[in-house]
Amino acid sequence: MTDVNLSAILYKKLDLRLEDRPIPEPGKGEVQLCMQKVGICGSDVHYWQHGRIGDRFIVTGPMLLGHECSAVVTKVGEGVSHLKIGDRVAIEPHGVCRVCEACKCGRYNLCPNVFFLATPPDSGALARYHVHGADFVFKLPDNVSFEEGALIEPLSVGLHACRRGRLAMGHRVLVCGAGPIGLCAMLSAKAFGASAVCVTDIDSARLEFARKVGATHTVLIERGASEEDVAKKVAEVLGGAPDRTIECSGAQFSVNLGVFATKPGGVFTIVGHGPNKVEFPVVSLVAKEIEIVGSFRYINTWQTAIDMISCGKINVAPLVTHRFTLEETMQAFEMSKSGKGVKVMIDCAKK
Ligand code: NAD
Ligand code: ZN
Repeated sequence: MTDVNLSAILYKKLDLRLEDRPIPEPGKGEVQLCMQKVGICGSDVHYWQHGRIGDRFIVTGPMLLGHECSAVVTKVGEGVSHLKIGDRVAIEPHGVCRVCEACKCGRYNLCPNVFFLATPPDSGALARYHVHGADFVFKLPDNVSFEEGALIEPLSVGLHACRRGRLAMGHRVLVCGAGPIGLCAMLSAKAFGASAVCVTDIDSARLEFARKVGATHTVLIERGASEEDVAKKVAEVLGGAPDRTIECSGAQFSVNLGVFATKPGGVFTIVGHGPNKVEFPVVSLVAKEIEIVGSFRYINTWQTAIDMISCGKINVAPLVTHRFTLEETMQAFEMSKSGKGVKVMIDCAKK
């Protein structure tokens, strides 16, 4: 196979191929990027395994995977002034219309005309080269690595969840789920000034990892446990009921736990995508005046994340547990699917 622009292309469910593609040229307002690191997200694995996420995102034709990325600028399109060839950058996966009501009021993550990398029908960036709207490409300082640059994407999900949940100094926080998103929510909560963060999971190895990367407390969800009992345990380890809960597991159990555990008047932010319809303990929710907030992707988090990593207040680097080259994409996806690691990273640079 020639390798002008080796690309990881999902044709349909269980049909992921490495193929050579022409190098795309940047248009007005765009930059051409030589991809460096691309992290594998649960959604990439899900599209590969199932060809869809729910009824909304269905793989109907060949698309590249990958949306957690860093790169080097190789060409600059007309009208781009803040980037130059050779710049090391991190990529926000969005492209938005800029004219709809959501865009105009600053909530561009809700733009109905959104383009989002590796979300069908939109193609991703797991390739040697990719072209992207320059306004969603951010320069990395020298002390932020390409891996950290790629990790800004999941970190942004955590930062946005904390903003949506109005986290503040001194809050006790419960994070449900110790996957990459839960860990990024935990790191973000600490950066927002949380005094203690308790992370739950059904997998004790994931909780051990969570403690290693900064969770102050963990609670293992054991088979047959009741949400009310776990809520009591969470309050015990945190020294009081959590002011804020962030759900990052997608489990029905956590949705109930969030309502039972969160302090009266607290905020329960839901990030995890569980089944489309879940049950809530409504009487508890109402009687405790729990605010339920949805959190979707992110808005204006890249510069914040870059600055917080650069100044050392957030350390995402330890989340990477496995590394592969672009040629080893299939092995990388198998590893990610196995759930043995936390973040699997692909090096896209030609050796
Ligand atoms: P992941 O599958 O790696 O992690 C989920 C974790 O939850 C796993 O460690 C799993 O063992 C744990 N878990 C399962 N049941 C549990 C329970 N009852 N209690 C506690 N933990 C439990 O996934 P991830 O990549 O970390 O993503 C987490 C969730 O966030 C997924 O549902 C994903 O779809 C969603 N997500 C949402 C957004 C958004 O913008 N809202 C963005 C990215 C991911
Ligand atoms: Zn819009």
